[in-house]
Amino acid sequence: MDGNDARATWRNRWTLGILGNDRASRDTTDMAQWLEAGDATAEDLPLSDGEIHFLWWFIQGSIMEPDIRWRLRRAWGMCGRHAWGALSAEAAFYHGFLHGPAVLYVDLMERALGAFQVRGALQVRRLVRRLRATGPCLMCEMGYNAASRGMAREKLVEEGRDTSALRAFAEETRVYWWKTVCGRCIANGASARCRPHLLEEATLGAMRDLTGHHAQVQNIFEHLRVYKQSFVWEYHGTDTAEDRAALISAIGWCSGWLPWIGSIWSTGP
Ligand SMILES: [Zn+2]
Ligand SMILES: [Zn+2]
Repeated sequence: MDGNDARATWRNRWTLGILGNDRASRDTTDMAQWLEAGDATAEDLPLSDGEIHFLWWFIQGSIMEPDIRWRLRRAWGMCGRHAWGALSAEAAFYHGFLHGPAVLYVDLMERALGAFQVRGALQVRRLVRRLRATGPCLMCEMGYNAASRGMAREKLVEEGRDTSALRAFAEETRVYWWKTVCGRCIANGASARCRPHLLEEATLGAMRDLTGHHAQVQNIFEHLRVYKQSFVWEYHGTDTAEDRAALISAIGWCSGWLPWIGSIWSTGP
């Protein structure tokens, strides 16, 4: 499917009302304001009926379309609420089979790792430019929020909102992902930083040594790559809990940890 086909499919779904219908008020002015304001603010989960309905369609194919993939790249995934909500919904609908998110986040972490390949006096400034989002969260842009209503069956919404599959995945891997939680997101003094807080500190001139952050991004990418590969038949079973944990670390790094710690995980390390 080429870009035009992808856009046509996207538009059709939109027209059919599958992708939400309250975006009409958004225009390019909103986009400019959004870019000035920086990343969208995270809100607490659970997702609304409309958000679940959207994700149910989205994870079945749209996520792989080239046009959508570029929007996800430009925004480093989605805002906190929608990134974590999407992971939770995918874990629920696919019973913990997280191939789609693994593919997406290997791609994003590979780009993040590439962004750290900067040297010289303007190193931090160049990194900031590369790590900044250049587009909005696509679900926010389409007007999805805690008040969105959907047309999905009640049972489907209930199923998509069930966090137990994701919590089981997180429980099994927590010793590894917990080490990567941003110390600013949860105010615990840890040195790890998510991308939004890394950007904030670097912009304020409060970040000089990138070595630790670079190493963390590299570590997440390498483990996530093993996890992604384990979905290929001949590599089944080659992934460890540390590899699987990298998916949670990657989403936390890209979008921040607040919705995760506040709404899904509440028991500490
Ligand atoms: Zn969003
Ligand atoms: Zn943070």
